[in-house]
Amino acid sequence: MSEHLTTVAGVAVDTRHFIGGERIAATETFTDVSPIDGTPLGEIARGTGTDAAAAVAAAKAAFPGWAATPRAERARLLEAVADGVEKRLEELAVVETHDNGALLRSHRRGVMPRVAHNFRFFADRLRTLGHEDFETCGHTQHVSWDPAGPCVLITPWNAPLLLATWKAAPALAAGGTVILKPSEWSPLTASLLADIATAAGLPPGVLNVVQGYGPEVGAPLVAHPEVRRVSFTGSVPTGRRIAASAAAHLTPLSLELGGKSPLLVFADADLELAVDLAVEQYDNAGQVCLAATRILVEEPVAAEFGRRLAERAARLRQGDPRDAATDLGPLVHPRQLEKVDGFVRRALAAGARAVVGGHAAGGQPAGGHPAGGRADGRDPGDGRGAAREGGLYYPPTLLTDVAQDSEIVQEEVFGPVLTLQTFTTEDEAVHLANDTRFGLAATLATGDHERARRVTAQLVAGTVWVNCFYVRDLRAPFGGSRHSGVGREGGDWSFDFYCDLKTTVTAPNGWTDHG
Ligand code: NAD
Repeated sequence: MSEHLTTVAGVAVDTRHFIGGERIAATETFTDVSPIDGTPLGEIARGTGTDAAAAVAAAKAAFPGWAATPRAERARLLEAVADGVEKRLEELAVVETHDNGALLRSHRRGVMPRVAHNFRFFADRLRTLGHEDFETCGHTQHVSWDPAGPCVLITPWNAPLLLATWKAAPALAAGGTVILKPSEWSPLTASLLADIATAAGLPPGVLNVVQGYGPEVGAPLVAHPEVRRVSFTGSVPTGRRIAASAAAHLTPLSLELGGKSPLLVFADADLELAVDLAVEQYDNAGQVCLAATRILVEEPVAAEFGRRLAERAARLRQGDPRDAATDLGPLVHPRQLEKVDGFVRRALAAGARAVVGGHAAGGQPAGGHPAGGRADGRDPGDGRGAAREGGLYYPPTLLTDVAQDSEIVQEEVFGPVLTLQTFTTEDEAVHLANDTRFGLAATLATGDHERARRVTAQLVAGTVWVNCFYVRDLRAPFGGSRHSGVGREGGDWSFDFYCDLKTTVTAPNGWTDHG
């Protein structure tokens, strides 16, 4: 077997970049480690500015041919990628679980089928894309969707392939060529996607994958003058750096950033449903941007709701994400464990009370994380102690007695940590819900439709769920307000982002009007 192939749970994964249809080795590598038990998964190419430039050159060279490919043919190729994802669904699910620690059953049932759907959806979009023509004073106005050019897609680790393909599918459908830079904490499924795209017949250079750390290879990609779109999902500080860098060439960008979303539970809600919704926020060990981590409960039902939620949270099973009975897997990385633990420690020191959890290594540790962190430049090494003692498992935690202006209420923890606050009036509920710098999502539990309508209208949030959570149709816009992001993804919003929209206005008598 080639030194550039690693085998993860029986699946061969190429650890090199994929540029211009070729596998390109790097002079340096970094070790990718499984959060499940600290097993090294492979030596991954550590990209540089040279690799970034080569990937942009390949995407630029492939662009004219791909942009000129008839829509029906592009749609056929996207369908072939979807077929390839479905054919390798189990392998993708298993590799992703080993790489980022999220539940295998979720990858099998929900996430990977959705990855295939991302490609099918935009293949369909291409087939239905018609011509927008209208007339003004006898002048015909024709709108066309011109492909924009090479697109840089930079993604995080919490849902690696889902988020990558949610960008790649519309970019490719729109006739753009793609340079995908997955997170250094979960690089493997992007490499498998390159294999699938090749097998599907995507021409060389249309989809490129570069591996490595953000500052080393992500930053030069964003700063490259030949890049026509940058789409980023990740943290607010990185989003800010990317926006500043893209500004130099006025490269249009889309930012999907963090959140601190509320779950509002009104006294008229079905309390059992409200508790179910709250428990769902522990999914993926809380490493979900949309998670409603601030629970706001109306005073008359607060004690009963808190009691039921605490009971359910304490019963959640934490352990190996490959086990079908597990509810919560590990956090992705020692650095993440340290971060989550730090937030909770500071909250407790500031007077919060842990009704459930509230301490690192409280779950069912999987025997430590021998690597103690990856040589990835963003792990300063502290936090390794906690990781060694207890694996990367942080227990489901529920904190009460938290102040609205405290760090734990205002900042994104990105771990299985919920806060519980109460309110007495609808106005107060809305005020508390909106009182952070974020605006990604909000969830309401109420039995009163009129109230749901009234409250929704006042919430600053890209998505509001009423008596449900996480249901999302690709036709709907998705994204956040304020520090949660810039722009929207999904359906036409994604497709249009990757196009240069053009309006052609033609005079009534053709060209003769102006001589
Ligand atoms: P991150 O910002 O640390 O990294 C995200 C990506 O950016 C990685 O691929 C990283 O290598 C790259 N990167 C880092 N520095 C860079 C730079 N200077 N230039 C270019 N690229 C750079 O985020 P993370 O820790 O991987 O992900 C967690 C964050 O993502 C959370 O804040 C979460 O809320 C957010 N997120 C948002 C959504 C959404 O749709 N709004 C979805 C998932 C995750």
